[in-house]
Amino acid sequence: MDESSFRQLWRSFATLIREHKDELNELDAAIGDADHGSNMDRGLTKVVDALEASPEGSLRADAKLVGMTLMGTVGGASGALWGSAMLKFAAALPDAPTVSWADFVAALDAFVQALAQRGKATVGDKTMMDVFIPMVDELQTALTAGEPPFDTVRSHAREYSERTYDMVAKRGRAAYLGERSVGHVDPGSRSSALWFEALGAVGP
Ligand SMILES: [Mg+2]
Repeated sequence: MDESSFRQLWRSFATLIREHKDELNELDAAIGDADHGSNMDRGLTKVVDALEASPEGSLRADAKLVGMTLMGTVGGASGALWGSAMLKFAAALPDAPTVSWADFVAALDAFVQALAQRGKATVGDKTMMDVFIPMVDELQTALTAGEPPFDTVRSHAREYSERTYDMVAKRGRAAYLGERSVGHVDPGSRSSALWFEALGAVGP
């Protein structure tokens, strides 16, 4: 992936978040505090502005800028999770204008490990991890098998997000609802699926 594709990924994600802002707020209203769409929209708008204002250099520098921006502008747990994990993603990337898919997926693995460390959530807890863990697993499997990783990201992220509908929330504000959290898609998993949709859209 080259730097212009990486920047396009964040522009696409910002556009998708904007388009789904109300939906994300409504999902969060059901099991949280109704601001996930607005929070992510505010953060991604700042990310696009920050990237625009920054001269091209490397994906690593861009990823660091994205992480710092998200951490400073997205409220709630999502800002800290996305922000800190993006900084780990940046640190795991080679400092180059173009990175291989293997390097990109390895950095995504570092992203997931950072999420796990900070959020203490795993698959089945009704969080963004229900999308990120299986998606990164699938990307790693596709790479090992020599298959195009984009087929995976296009087709499965939404499905993993939908699976959170039947789950009992174990982390975050939604966990206070216990069984009453069942019957709602987790908003963090939904926005994470949109990120993979954006990733799929910049692919070859
Ligand atoms: Mg919220």
